[in-house]
Amino acid sequence: MYNYVIVGAGFAGCVLAERIANLLNKKVLIVEKRNHIGGNAFDYFNEDGILVHKYGPHIFHTNNKEVWDYISNFTDWYHYQHKVLAYVDGQTVPMPINLDTINILYNFNFSSDELNNYYENAKCNKKEILNSEDMVITKIGEELYEKFFKNYTKKQWDLYPYELEPEVIARIPIRNNRDGRYFTDKYQGMPKYGYTKIFENMLNSKNIHILLNTDFKDVIGDVEYENLIYTGPIDYYFDYKYGKLPYRSLRFEFETLDCVKYQEVGTVNYPNDYDFTRITEFKHLTGQKHYKTTIVREYPSSEGEPFYPIPQRKNTEQYRLYEEEAQKLKNVFFIGRLANYKYYNMDKVVEEALKLFYQNIK
Ligand code: FAD
Ligand code: UDP
Repeated sequence: MYNYVIVGAGFAGCVLAERIANLLNKKVLIVEKRNHIGGNAFDYFNEDGILVHKYGPHIFHTNNKEVWDYISNFTDWYHYQHKVLAYVDGQTVPMPINLDTINILYNFNFSSDELNNYYENAKCNKKEILNSEDMVITKIGEELYEKFFKNYTKKQWDLYPYELEPEVIARIPIRNNRDGRYFTDKYQGMPKYGYTKIFENMLNSKNIHILLNTDFKDVIGDVEYENLIYTGPIDYYFDYKYGKLPYRSLRFEFETLDCVKYQEVGTVNYPNDYDFTRITEFKHLTGQKHYKTTIVREYPSSEGEPFYPIPQRKNTEQYRLYEEEAQKLKNVFFIGRLANYKYYNMDKVVEEALKLFYQNIK
């Protein structure tokens, strides 16, 4: 007899399992269809002994002290700040666009004030920001939009920015200074011993049982339980009764090279060239020392595992139908990127899971 069955062993499922087991001293069964815990943040040492992220590069960053302190109970940190370059017009330049980006790209020698004027003259005026294209062109104009955003977005989503909600591209700031960090959150870093260790530490309780390689629908009829916490795709839970929600997937191509370093920074984005969006070299992220190096190329795809909810109004409306059904259920909680159909970062998932625990779980 379990007090809680939790479907999915990603951040959402593991935070809740940990809190329920350790603070409430209740029995939890986690059902996970993959052969490992950690959800999309799962990492492992590959055959050459290099720590890699199976589902693409994950960097932890947050402005939420409660989230940072909570995760810090389960790991020490390697104090990494992510850097990204974009390959544009034959050069690699800092991304997000900043003073150095513009000066290198156009061979200018602008100050921040001069760059502000440049943006001011280039930007398009619009009364309302209706989509991700508006989000960029109202700040920096069409030329930079075309070089850095338009084609990357088409590759990533198979949609142009005007077809996506403004929040998608709003994730990427536009700068007038030399700050070359991808994220500016107050707290950021990489778990010193990897993400999987965090999950192992969270789930290390006699109150928690874990069933891997199992789809919850195959066992749920045979388990006695009081409450269910579901972190998988919400449309699957309801047997797609309102149709399949669209998700974007990725194919990851890993390559281990016989050299110590492949590229200058953690990630290089390729907005206008190749079929992949970006190349990440893991050793930059993890600080690992090794005589070889592993990189991953990300190829966006409509087929495959559901990684990204697609932020379009029609999809949000379809999701709302499922959400209404979900709200009618007693003792079933929906949480996480797939169950809430939201483009959440890890910290937001942890924040939402802690909120659910403290407000609704007894
Ligand atoms: P998930 O991690 O997806 O976990 C859900 C789990 O449920 C999965 O393990 C799945 O197998 C399981 N499941 C689903 N259906 C069933 C079923 N029927 N039965 C049993 N189990 C089931 N966030 C950041 O903060 N920083 C980053 O740098 C970052 N980079 C990212 C890069 C990529 C390529 C991607 C795709 C995401 C990135 N994210 C990043 C987002 C991050 O991965 C998510 O916010 C986080 O992993 C979501 O956690 P979750 O628990 O909601 O979902
Ligand atoms: N984006 C872009 N060019 C870039 C980087 C990002 O056009 O060089 C856009 C693209 O639409 C992308 C979104 O901004 O999906 C968010 O980028 P982020 O790096 O946050 O994506 P994630 O890491 O979540 O895949």
